[in-house]
Amino acid sequence: VGKERVQLAEGIRNTLILLDHKVRSKHISVTLNLPSDLPDVCGWPGELNQVWTNLIDNAVDALPDGGKLEISSQVDRRSEEQMAFVLTKVIDNGGGIPQDIQDKIFEPFFTTKEIGKGTGLGLDIVQGVVKHHNGSIKVQSEPGRTEFSVCLPTE
Ligand code: ADP
Ligand code: MG
Repeated sequence: VGKERVQLAEGIRNTLILLDHKVRSKHISVTLNLPSDLPDVCGWPGELNQVWTNLIDNAVDALPDGGKLEISSQVDRRSEEQMAFVLTKVIDNGGGIPQDIQDKIFEPFFTTKEIGKGTGLGLDIVQGVVKHHNGSIKVQSEPGRTEFSVCLPTE
């Protein structure tokens, strides 16, 4: 199946609806910053929904009751490449990812969750989908703040 034009904002909103029960049960406040003039990205909508699902699911797991989740997208134009990207950040104010495991979290089956609560496959899948889209992902985390940024090409 070929690539399609994908409206990221729609995918993110739909993902939040699917995770609504979990988000509400922890009284998480969600801030969305999804500009209406955001360009479409180019790719596979089902795969991208899996990215938002896995990142948001991890953020909610990391958050205490009443925690904050922020999702924002913006255009990222790289003049030298004449190509536009959409940069999406998923930010939580949970405990953060300890420095010594930050390079392991994308490995398949790496999890710090109790048996039955995590498979350790979420970020492996995220990384695979991002690569499939010729995008990039990075994480910045410190105690009290974790930010995953996903950059996806618009063509
Ligand atoms: P799983 O969620 O099944 O454990 P993932 O691949 O989704 O597997 O995540 C791997 C690990 O990365 C998690 O077990 C957790 O330790 C860490 N992690 C991922 N996202 C966050 C986050 N937002 N805050 C803190 N730790 C995180
Ligand atoms: Mg996960």
